[in-house]
Amino acid sequence: MTKYIGAHVSTAGGVHNAPINAHEIGATAFALFTKNQRRWVAKPFTTKEIDEFKENCEKFNFTVDQILPHDSYLINLGHPEAEKLEKSRAAFLDEMQRCEELGLKLLNFHPGSHLKQISIDECLAKIAESINITLDKTTTGIAVIENTAGQGSNVGFQFEHLAAIIDKVEDKKRVGVCIDTCHSFAAGYDLRTAEACEKTFKHFDEIVGFKYLRGMHINDAKSEFESHVDRHHSIGQGNIGKECFKYIMKDSRFDNIPLVLETIDPEIWAQEISWLQDQAK
Ligand SMILES: [Zn+2]
Ligand SMILES: [Zn+2]
Repeated sequence: MTKYIGAHVSTAGGVHNAPINAHEIGATAFALFTKNQRRWVAKPFTTKEIDEFKENCEKFNFTVDQILPHDSYLINLGHPEAEKLEKSRAAFLDEMQRCEELGLKLLNFHPGSHLKQISIDECLAKIAESINITLDKTTTGIAVIENTAGQGSNVGFQFEHLAAIIDKVEDKKRVGVCIDTCHSFAAGYDLRTAEACEKTFKHFDEIVGFKYLRGMHINDAKSEFESHVDRHHSIGQGNIGKECFKYIMKDSRFDNIPLVLETIDPEIWAQEISWLQDQAK
């Protein structure tokens, strides 16, 4: 049983630094932005950048199954306005192509927001259409939908939302989900005890299915249960507590996928990773 545990690391100085940064904190998985997450456009990768990234991944033993790239926060694949939806789709396609260039397989993204202009169902349908368009124009990438806390008008806070998107995606082999523990908890899925975890993940399996689980974001929550507020906390310091993370580390359904910390204190990531690894033993 293999648990790939890491964090969302910095790419300051170039994407080739991500595997180095991950290795330095004892990680066996990592997440990264392949471009500035607050900008729409980025310079294409040079061959040198691509080669260096691949060399460092190989050097520090990170395979594609251990890497979970995250897209830009600006993208809204369910945007109610045609022009802005187009802009988001173009940016998402660019992100998927950048991942493919780096030899990566997964691309994690927040599904989108209805901005109070369309219904949740209409928003979910637009997201599925956006995924279909992107998959048509690429060859290998997998669109990994992240569940949300449901803050503002974000969709994706119920497992049913994820299932509704997947249902409309044509190529089911190239779609998956990433479950964020903080988002789940804030959305009203209890994770505070082993029993609560059992119930929540049973529900997840029934509605979405573990076969679609491609990654996890391992975060404790500063936000309250069912608050729909997205505020992460360090492991064991928030309202979820340690039990949930012990449960995940001991459960083989979370094997062989990137388990990525997005906790608030990068200074203790190495300790958090080491603690999680101990729980998996
Ligand atoms: Zn997350
Ligand atoms: Zn979050």
